[in-house]
Amino acid sequence: MPQHTPAPGQHVCGHCDGFPTVAITTGTRNPDGTRRTLNVTCPACKGTGTITAPARRTLATAGR
Ligand SMILES: [Zn+2]
Repeated sequence: MPQHTPAPGQHVCGHCDGFPTVAITTGTRNPDGTRRTLNVTCPACKGTGTITAPARRTLATAGR
């Protein structure tokens, strides 16, 4: 399938939706005419785009 599937145990970061590094245009231009951009790295996944799934807790037995 052409669909990208993360490695087992890894999930696409919900904070950046798999786009960990984003170039933001500030609207200003450098003296040479290029756009000035800021590269922002996702703080949640630290630029990896994926997060390791936390250990799942079973909720079924709580309070019974
Ligand atoms: Zn992220």
